[in-house]
Parts: sequence; structure tokens; C-alpha cells
Amino acid sequence: MVETLPKILVVDDVAANRVAMRSLLAKMDAEILIAASGNEALSLALDHDLAVVLLDIQMPDMDGFEVAEWLRGEERSREVPILFVTAAFKDEFHRLQGYQSGAMDYIEKPVDGRILRSKVSLLLELYNRRQALKQSNQALVERTVLLQTTLENIRHGLGVFDERSRLRIWNDRFFEYPDYPLTLAKPGTALTELLAIHQQRGELSSHAIQQRLTNQAQPQRFDWPLRNGRILDVKSNPMPDGGVVVSFTDVTEQRRDEASVRENASRLAAVNATAHDGIITINHRGQVQEWNPAAEQMFGYTAQEMRGAPLTKIMPERFHQPHAEGITHYLASGQSEWVGKTRERVGLRRNGEEFPVELSLAAWGAADQPCFTAILRDVTERKCQEELLTQLNQRLGDSLVKLQRHHRELLQISRMNDCLQSCLTMEEAIQVMEESLANLFDGMVGMLLLTPVDGGLPEISGCWGMQEEPSFPPAICTVGDQWQHQAARREGCCGFATDEKTPLCYCLPLWGQGQSLGFLHLRELDPAQRDALARTEGLTTTVREAVELSLANLRMREKLRDQAVRDVLTGLFNRRYLDETLPREISRSTRLQQPLAVAMLDVDHFKRFNDTFGHEAGDRVLREVATLLKSRLRKSDLACRYGGEELTVVMPSLDIHAARERMESIRQGIKEISIEHNGVALGQVTISIGVAALPQHGSSGEELLQKADKALYTAKQAGRDRVIVHPE
Ligand code: GH3
Ligand code: MG
Ligand code: MG
Repeated sequence: MVETLPKILVVDDVAANRVAMRSLLAKMDAEILIAASGNEALSLALDHDLAVVLLDIQMPDMDGFEVAEWLRGEERSREVPILFVTAAFKDEFHRLQGYQSGAMDYIEKPVDGRILRSKVSLLLELYNRRQALKQSNQALVERTVLLQTTLENIRHGLGVFDERSRLRIWNDRFFEYPDYPLTLAKPGTALTELLAIHQQRGELSSHAIQQRLTNQAQPQRFDWPLRNGRILDVKSNPMPDGGVVVSFTDVTEQRRDEASVRENASRLAAVNATAHDGIITINHRGQVQEWNPAAEQMFGYTAQEMRGAPLTKIMPERFHQPHAEGITHYLASGQSEWVGKTRERVGLRRNGEEFPVELSLAAWGAADQPCFTAILRDVTERKCQEELLTQLNQRLGDSLVKLQRHHRELLQISRMNDCLQSCLTMEEAIQVMEESLANLFDGMVGMLLLTPVDGGLPEISGCWGMQEEPSFPPAICTVGDQWQHQAARREGCCGFATDEKTPLCYCLPLWGQGQSLGFLHLRELDPAQRDALARTEGLTTTVREAVELSLANLRMREKLRDQAVRDVLTGLFNRRYLDETLPREISRSTRLQQPLAVAMLDVDHFKRFNDTFGHEAGDRVLREVATLLKSRLRKSDLACRYGGEELTVVMPSLDIHAARERMESIRQGIKEISIEHNGVALGQVTISIGVAALPQHGSSGEELLQKADKALYTAKQAGRDRVIVHPE
């Protein structure tokens, strides 16, 4: 603030007086303003704050009294002390008039300098004091306003109590927070009166609160729970001159948040402590911050050992680098393939054991210094269970496959049985077996070895899948010479090779109606697929039974059919069979435009054998002739006993010349056999033969037989022991 000198206004119409006054007042600590008339004085009074006015009374135009009245009437000059300076008005009347118009005092002319200065300096002193007072008043007002504004704007409730605990200053919130009635918001309200409004909750009694709030010795601070559920943070500060400043802050939300934070923390601690999963928190440097009891158990390190330790301590070394890179990548990009996901990793226990662990990871905290919390679960047990389950599933799958295969095999066997049942001949049956067994024994090759009806070594009757020429006994088979013995005991051979390169083979004896039917020989195609044979276990038994049954049936049927079509004595076909077969053979040859020859044979002078050696000897001769005949004929030829000692031979695809040659050789052969009966030689047997053929001798069986018979007759006539072809 700029210090200004107090101003003294000197009003006098006489210039000499004005000069004298200026001179008298020159040394005063004041600024002198000079007015030569009342009007001039008023004008200056309006522009300046004056400390004293020295006013001449007798002036033209406006006298001193008038000027004084004017000054009293103006706001700015109302309080300014006026000293009349006059020679004329020394009487009581004028004095009174002067005082009434606002004068403070009089100074008589001629002016005594000392009196003037003494009076003026007193007034100046008064003026200065008043000014100082004004200023401090102003400051006080300003401070009060500031205080009031501050009080109303702070978020605390503030109350000032005097040394007798009476309210002096407060703001709205002081009443608002504890819900005090506003009727008490007046100076002098006792603290006890305010406290009585609330029945206290909790541990703090009204008395205790009052004690604290009025503590003059030291500041107090405590939480004050109100009945309305709010919580106030209360502070009381003693003031130097007695009394206290009490402030309230509503901390209900803050305390609730703090309680909630505490609750969350203890909940988290409880979860950490009781969780079966390991819960680990690491900082952005990969150092362990939290380590719960489950993690202790899982890894074998205590929380104390792990706190601050690198997480790599619990992971195998091969994962250390990826782990560090993962954190670096997350810090740079805020992204990680692990965060927010559950994945399987490998954990490392204190004892060095690795184990599968399921890890769920969350990141939290500041972006540049995040923390990672992981939930870890030891899944060793679960993995074992899963493995077990997988194995069980595998086994179940295998069983299912086996069952399906078994079902398929049964279907194939059933189909094979159906086909076999409809087979009329052994050849058909063997063909069916070859096809069916090749399908059934996938990955294996095989042979069907059948024992001839009249006994002897088994013959290779069918085979499948073999690359080499089949032989008996099979080259690889250990049956060897033992086969007969084993067949009798129904024992299979071998089965198991000694090394992995030798194919396994299996010889299954076939048995029916009390006799050996032969063998079913199976062999691995590729020893590398060893399970092929193992798979056939069980199947072989079923298949063998089916094959045995079918073979036995066919044999029985063939036997019966043979009995119906064969001559018992010679084993040759009978006449009935010839009658059935010859037309069929002729029509086939005709269709194929092939020749066919027929021969009629008759033993020469057969009667003599009967007559000479007896009937049995005759039978013997017939059998020997038949045997030789069969041995010299092809499979496709047909030899029949036409009747008595007459035989017929049908030779498909042989023309007349070939037939004649064949017959000639037979005639020669018969001639060369020597027959004994009961130790007696029966002598030479000769035979006469007549031959006829398609197409030259006819187109029907009867025609051919007739012509052959005629040729035979001719042969007899010509002297016997010869072959005659019917003339064309
Ligand atoms: P050839 O033909 O050379 O003119 O003289 P043959 O003696 O062979 O002729 P014949 O027709 O007169 O005699 C046939 C005899 O064969 C008559 C019959 O008793 C005899 N015979 C027929 N069937 C059988 C048989 O099954 N066994 C035996 N031992 N003899 C039979
Ligand atoms: Mg005869
Ligand atoms: Mg005869």
C-alpha cells in the first residue's frame, strides 16, 4: 500500500493569510491544499480525503459556516474535523453556530503558530489513527470474508469452540454431516448440546467423544460412527488461546471401500491358502511375488524360498528362454499367447522330477510393470487316467473290430456252407472252398490236400495264393513223414516259427466219418504281418468243421451215386449210366464239332474160364480186364460193363483212327496180363473189339453202339483177338 501524507485544506479569501498559514504548517507532516473561496474548498473536498480543514469564516460569496455545512453534508467529508480560523466571531453565538455547522474548534486570528500546529498535529494524529483503524477494519472484513468463503468451500465440517466449549465459528457442513438441527447453528451453542443429539453407536460414548474433542493438550483424531450409519473422520486441534477447532469429514464411502479392500484381501488370502491349485504371482521381471501353500506342495519350495526368486526355478531349462521372451513380448506389445488362456506345460519339482501342469494365466497392473498370476494344476493323475481311458478305448475298439471281423467271417463261412451244400461234385466243392478260404484267411496262402476215397497219400486238390508249385508234404511244413500219424491223431503241425523271417504255417487234419479226409494247409504270406495267423485262431476250428462236414457229405453222396452207377464186380460204370451219359457226350461233341468214338469189347471164349476154373475165376478175369482197361483210358473216357463179359468204352474227342490205336493197345495189354486164381494160372486172355465213331458211323448212341457191336461180331467171326472198325 502506498503511504500518502494526510491532507490539510486551508480555506481563506485573503491571499496573505493563505501564505501565512502555508508557512506555519510547512513543517507539519502533511500535504497542504489551499482554497481561496468556499466553492473552491468544496471542490477540493470532493476530490480528496482530507485530514483537517482550516476554514476562514468571513469570506465573500459563501461564508465558513455554509462551507462547513456543505462538508458535513457530503459523504466523503462528513467526518473531517474543521477548525475555524477567525478574528470576527469570538462571541458565544457564533461559536455555537460554528459548532452546529460542524466545527471542532476555533483558532483566533492572528494565528499563534504553536497553537495552530498543536491543534492541527492532534487532529492529524487522530486522522492517522482513524485511517489505520479503517485499514485494519478493512483487512478484518476481508479476512472474515475469506474465512467464511473458505469455510463454506472446504469439504470438511469445521467448528471452532471457545475455551468453554461454546460454538463460535462453523460452516454448513459442520451441521450437515452429523445431521445437527440448524436451530443450533448459532454462536454460543454448547458442544454438549450438540453431542446429546446422537445416541452413540459402537464403543465411543458421548462422554469419550467430548473428552477427545475438548482436549486442550494435543490434537485428536478418530472415527466417529453416527447413528445414521455414516462415519465421520473427526479431528480436533487445540488453539493457542484456548478452545479447539473441530473438523468432520464424511469418510463413510472411504471406510466402506477400505473395508471392501480388506475383505477382498482376506478373501483372496483365504482362497490362496485353501486352494488345491497352486496360485503364483510374478512381477514383470519374472520374480515370484506370491506363492500359496498348494504351490509349496506341488513344487516342494516354501513361500519364503520362492519369494523374489525367478519363476524359471520351477520350469525345465529348455523352457527358460521361451519364458523370458514371452514376458519381453508382453511388455512390448501387451499381448501373449498364454494370457487369458489355459494350457498345459511342464513343471519341475524340487527333486528334479518333471510333471505335466495345467496353467491358467492372467495379467494385471500397470502396462509397463504388469504382474502375472498363474493358477497351476498338477495333471499327472489326470493324464494317467486319460491314458488308461485311451487304452481302454483302444481295447474296446480292437474288440469291436474283432467282433466285426468275426461277424464277417461267420457270414463268409455261412455263405461258403450254403454254396457247398449246393455243390454236386467234389470239384465244385473244392472250387468253392478255394475261393472262400482265400477270402477268409486274408494274408495267408493255402492248400487243400484230400485223401483219395480208396486211401493212399493225400493229393493236392486245391490251392490259393501260392506263387510256387504246390507240393506234398508242403516244403515248409514239418508234418513230413509224420503226416499219417498226425492225421490219425487229428493233430495240426507246427504253427510257430522260430524266427521272424520264417513264415508260420498250419496243417489242419481233416476228418470225417471215422477216416482222414486230408489236410488244410495254411501259411503266412508275409511274416512281417505275423498277426494274420494269430487272427485266424478260432476261425480255423470253425472253418475246419465246415470243410470236414462238406467233404464228408460229398464223399457220402459220391459213394451213393457210385453205387447206383457202377458195376459192383468191375467198378466200371453200369449199363444204366452208359444209357444216361452217352447221349449227353454225343450232343456235347456234336455241339463242339469234335469226334467221339465208341468201342464194344468182348472176352474171347470167356465161358471156358467159367467152365474150366469156376465162376469165381471168371469174375477174376473180368476184374483184371476192367482194371487194365481203366489204366489205359483217360479221365474223360467212359468205361462201362455192357453186360456179361461185354464192355463198352466211350472216348470223347477221339477220332476213329485214334480210337482204333487205343483199342489195339488195350487188346495187346490184356493179352499180356497173366492171371492166377487160387495159385492156378488161368492162361492167356484175349479180347475182340469193334469200333465205331462220330460222325461217320452215325449221329446217335444207338447207331454207334450198334455199329461197334457189328464190328465186334465181325472181329469174332474173323477169328477173335482183334480190333475191327466198322466200315464207313
Ligand atoms: P465167344 O464170345 O468167344 O464167342 O465165346 P464165349 O464163351 O465168350 O461166349 P458166350 O456168350 O457163349 O458165353 C458167355 C458166358 O459168360 C456165358 C455166361 O455164363 C458167362 N457169364 C456171363 N456173366 C458172367 C459173370 O458175371 N461171371 C462169370 N463168371 N461168368 C459170366
Ligand atoms: Mg465172349
Ligand atoms: Mg459174350
